[in-house]
Amino acid sequence: MAALEDYKKKRKFDKTPEPSGEVKPEGGFTYAIQKHKASTLHYDLRLEMEGVLKSWSIPKGPSTDPSQKKLAIPTEDHPLDYADFEGKIPEGQYGAGTVILWDKGTYRSLKEDVSPKQALDQGKLEIFIEGQKLKGAYVLIKTGRKGEFEKRWLFIKMKDEHADARRNPVSTEPGSVISGKTVEDLAKEMDGG
Ligand code: MN
Repeated sequence: MAALEDYKKKRKFDKTPEPSGEVKPEGGFTYAIQKHKASTLHYDLRLEMEGVLKSWSIPKGPSTDPSQKKLAIPTEDHPLDYADFEGKIPEGQYGAGTVILWDKGTYRSLKEDVSPKQALDQGKLEIFIEGQKLKGAYVLIKTGRKGEFEKRWLFIKMKDEHADARRNPVSTEPGSVISGKTVEDLAKEMDGG
């Protein structure tokens, strides 16, 4: 399937403020997490690979506690521009709701001999995140057997000096790293109320 075909198919770019997006030359290692208040609240983890943002939806958000295994459901690749998007997706459009940029930075593979894409294809990606809220080693690991469980990954903090069982940034640091606004603030503002 052509890059970003899924992303484009789901959206009408004359109706949503989201970037239409192009595949950019490879090179960067952007990391971002968006908080998305849609029909259900979730967090979208995005990692730049081969010119697009590989994406997972994390229903309960990430953790800094290594004992917390967070379900991460793969979603369609997003354009690199999406890592700066926040705004309101109008009602009736795919993903309708409010998006803030909850965290942003860079990441690198912890395995020197394996590219992030290769690691992903093997079902286990160990990375070091340098975000504003999340820092340190994390692992994304495919879980379950083929079939219906194929779509289940886990996002887990690995033990290191950045691990912290009490910090809980999802509840203590809810705001955007761009504006400081919460999804609720942004929703109100965009409704003009
Ligand atoms: Mn989303």
